[in-house]
Amino acid sequence: MSDAKIIDGKAFAAKLREDITSEVTKLKADHGVTPGLAVILVGEDPASQVYVRNKGKQTLECGMNSYEHKLSPDTPQADLLALIAKLNADPNVHGILCQLPVPDHIDEQAILAAIDPAKDVDGFHVVNAGALATGGEGFAPCTPYGCLMLLKDTLGDLSGKRAVVVGRSNIVGKPMAQLLLKESCTVTIAHSRTRDLPDEVRRADIVIAAVGRPNMIKGDWIAPGATVIDVGINRVEGDAGKMKLVGDVEFATASKVAGAITPVPGGVGPMTIACLLNNTLISACRANGVAVPKLGFGS
Ligand code: NAP
Repeated sequence: MSDAKIIDGKAFAAKLREDITSEVTKLKADHGVTPGLAVILVGEDPASQVYVRNKGKQTLECGMNSYEHKLSPDTPQADLLALIAKLNADPNVHGILCQLPVPDHIDEQAILAAIDPAKDVDGFHVVNAGALATGGEGFAPCTPYGCLMLLKDTLGDLSGKRAVVVGRSNIVGKPMAQLLLKESCTVTIAHSRTRDLPDEVRRADIVIAAVGRPNMIKGDWIAPGATVIDVGINRVEGDAGKMKLVGDVEFATASKVAGAITPVPGGVGPMTIACLLNNTLISACRANGVAVPKLGFGS
């Protein structure tokens, strides 16, 4: 039996997609605008193919247009840049993302830099990273933004809370820390060189785990009553050799101590695409001078 409240990201994401669908319906009826999301996939990485398929499906389910561009693994970088330039100029496309990782012969940074920041719904462009750091208007990366929604739904005001973010990647750890700072948390960013990680984690009211190491954070690292958001998605061998997904936090022990915790799967995972669709809606509103609905943070 677990004592912690289980944070149901799957249900939260479903409700968010419902709210997005209503706003898309209104946008079409009142302004004749249909948000459009273009997703580029270079190569045949199986996990990326699954992500792209799910993104396309959920985009259509929300009433948006989905434009999928599947390119062969040997596509020259120049061709990819030319496609991005075309999508940047297309008024029917409000969001553009290139599924990462790209093949080795393509410079990932050059691709991210080529996307118009106003259509960068992944929030990976330096202009959007800068906006997040300096308080400007931009797009926050989807996974940390989804974590923030779950945290605020669980805790309400985050002001003054001690938060530790384990992981400092550009797509999760760093933007997560910026979002928490914006909420007036006292933020510690931990990483592979952090001395005495258990001690850092033990002092936190909020623990964000974004490492990519199965079950690394143990229950006795967690302060009693802390809120734990587990971003990790790790494939490990389960019973009878069947593969299963686990997080970066050892759920069985952590859920005995934490006040609230996200499960894996069904916690942070479903929030990422929902937030991507939210960013696409925001982009379509901005491009057409329509007031942006603030979804995902209660009424
Ligand atoms: P990443 O780029 O590999 O970054 C991992 C971070 O963890 C790095 O900053 C690294 O530190 C740190 N780290 C590694 N070993 C550590 C250790 N022993 N102690 C403390 N810190 C350590 O990974 P990412 O892209 O941020 O993703 C992290 C996890 O989240 C992965 O499991 C990924 O699959 C998952 N993820 C999930 C979603 C989703 O739910 N939709 C989205 C994105 C990612 P250094 O910087 O010092 O190397």
